[in-house]
Amino acid sequence: MAEHESLEFGKADFVLLDSVSLEEFMANLKLRFEKGRIYTYIGEVVVSVNPYRAMNIYGRDTIEQYKGRELYERPPHLFAIADAAYKAMKRRNKDTCIVISGESGAGKTEASKYIMQYIAAITNPGQRAEVERVKNMLLKSNCVLEAFGNAKTNRNDNSSRFGKYMDINFDFKGDPIGGHINNYLLEKVGGGSESLLRSLHVSKDPTAYSYIKVGGQVKVGYHRSISALTLSVADAMKVIGFTPDEIQTVYKVLATILHLGNLTFGVDGDTTLIENSKVVAVIGVLLATKEENVGKALLYRTVATGRDVIDKQHTTQEASYGRDALAKAMYERMFCWIVGRINDVIEVKNYDAKVHGKNTVIGVLDIYGFEIFQNNSFEQFCINYCNEKLQQLFIQLVLRQEQEEYQREGIPWKHIDYFNNQIIVDLVELQHKGIFSVLDEACMTVGKVTDEVFLQGLNSKLAKHAHYTSRKLSPTDKSLEFDRDFRIRHYAGDVVYSVVGFIDKNKDTLFQDFKRLLYNSSNPVLKMMWPEGKLSITEVTKRPLTAATLFKNSMIALVENLACKEPYYVRCIKPNDVKSPLLFEYERCRHQVEYLGLLENVRVRRAGFANRQEYPRFLQRYKMISEFTWPNHDLPSDKEAVKRLVQGCGFEHDVAYGKTKVFVRTPRTLFCLEEQRDEM
Ligand code: ATP
Ligand code: MG
Repeated sequence: MAEHESLEFGKADFVLLDSVSLEEFMANLKLRFEKGRIYTYIGEVVVSVNPYRAMNIYGRDTIEQYKGRELYERPPHLFAIADAAYKAMKRRNKDTCIVISGESGAGKTEASKYIMQYIAAITNPGQRAEVERVKNMLLKSNCVLEAFGNAKTNRNDNSSRFGKYMDINFDFKGDPIGGHINNYLLEKVGGGSESLLRSLHVSKDPTAYSYIKVGGQVKVGYHRSISALTLSVADAMKVIGFTPDEIQTVYKVLATILHLGNLTFGVDGDTTLIENSKVVAVIGVLLATKEENVGKALLYRTVATGRDVIDKQHTTQEASYGRDALAKAMYERMFCWIVGRINDVIEVKNYDAKVHGKNTVIGVLDIYGFEIFQNNSFEQFCINYCNEKLQQLFIQLVLRQEQEEYQREGIPWKHIDYFNNQIIVDLVELQHKGIFSVLDEACMTVGKVTDEVFLQGLNSKLAKHAHYTSRKLSPTDKSLEFDRDFRIRHYAGDVVYSVVGFIDKNKDTLFQDFKRLLYNSSNPVLKMMWPEGKLSITEVTKRPLTAATLFKNSMIALVENLACKEPYYVRCIKPNDVKSPLLFEYERCRHQVEYLGLLENVRVRRAGFANRQEYPRFLQRYKMISEFTWPNHDLPSDKEAVKRLVQGCGFEHDVAYGKTKVFVRTPRTLFCLEEQRDEM
């Protein structure tokens, strides 16, 4: 508790601020950051500010300090939250989850790794070999996913370009016995280790490949993944159980992607042709398929007209589009396949709940935070929608449920005003009226589908929506610079999106011919990645789901999954844009505090109670403290008995009595009760 008392480091919990104002909140956050205290609570939420320097607070000794302790016994730390989630899981058989949010570079992935390390460190005291194996797998899988799914961006040198949700399953002893990973929306990037790429006819000079250079310079976002795929990744893959053939195939896919980027198309009379046919030969070897099949898939598409099947030649433009789509799809498919293979290995098998008790879960969600770039496109739109969903969950779980419970229990409650972002979630995902529906409709329009058609659809359906506008609807608005811009008023702020590319990215079409090409490879691993290539042209009838629909469905499933778990939150803040350990950019941080809704969170916590328990349960735990309740009470109700008990301890001022539950305002009271209980 020492830290609570010490003013030097500010308040360890924002709930303890003298008054709740943005200024006070910010002053406390800044003071703590400058004193090297990067974690602060809001009740059970951890607010973390990226220190941008190595902190000596994650070692074995620190882990020991947090193990099995209650939240308020030690200075705020991720370990305390991890321990709370673990305890809830173990003591009360509850599935829990830890939701880590914040913008790019705020420290989400680092936080998720520390949490995993903590859980790994405190479990399996019996050193069971099987559990050690599982732990090792879970940690190694992280390393593999990072190698393929992260990239250097101008915001973060190690930016996760996919969202990750990882379940860890525990047995009745509280030891990890397996896990499962879900990934969300990978931004499609390419990579591969230098030495391996060289052995696959690939130059190690990244500027030799047009996918990884832009205007002679290596494009950020690609360079790192090239060098990151070191042998340690191949090693990790081996440990997880990837076969040598599988690992080789992964490298071949990476090499193919780089070669594809170098293909150029030209015309000779009416014929579209590939200008550098040697590259086609190399790709043929890498994909274990005939060179001429590669060439044909790149230049023609098979179309079924009535009963006839004909080969229709691409224009150079179509061919280039197809080439790029192929490269992206190959990367994405490979990544998903890797995740699937990891899941095969780490998933819990043959767990018999009758014998071993309930198998419980801790989920860890590390997902891209809100993004506002100079140019915002489909990807940012999806990411920001995801954050609206998570904010809605947060509101539902923390803010609304809390208020509703007080009402139900008849506890006097000062209503807290907060912005409910459901209206924005609806704006995006509502059937028929939402932006995703309008987009899907535009994609299904017969004839030439353009981004403009989509924009017109938005304008006609959403003209009156308070959170939507566009250049056409607000012609004098300076922030809407271009005809193709529209703007969403997100809970986190206004974002201008350009519709350019929405249609293509949503359709995400890959010519069927490529799917068949890859399925017909004589490399069985590659074949496995492309099962739908099995269908011949006349068998393909169903339109594949659009990217928006797939993403929406995966978000709805994610939120449903989280909603039935007991949530813990880590809110990450990025203190500056220059990765400096010293700089606390006030405005930047203030903006994040605002859009993470932290102040509202403090208000609700302060108005609220740290803990609540049903009367019988409370009695059962603490009845030994009072002579009136031990061993049994003769009062008319458990509620009366609890009142007596609390009075005897002198905590009346800190407690409220609801219809079925007793509410305890500050955690400290609870600790005192626990202590007295221990002394009995
Ligand atoms: P993105 O959304 O782009 O994936 P992120 O929120 O996952 O971003 P991280 O990759 O976790 O961000 O953090 C970015 C960098 O900040 C790390 O590579 C590391 O240098 C630094 N960093 C983050 N957290 C810590 C920490 N607790 N201690 C020291 N450095 C940290
Ligand atoms: Mg990350």
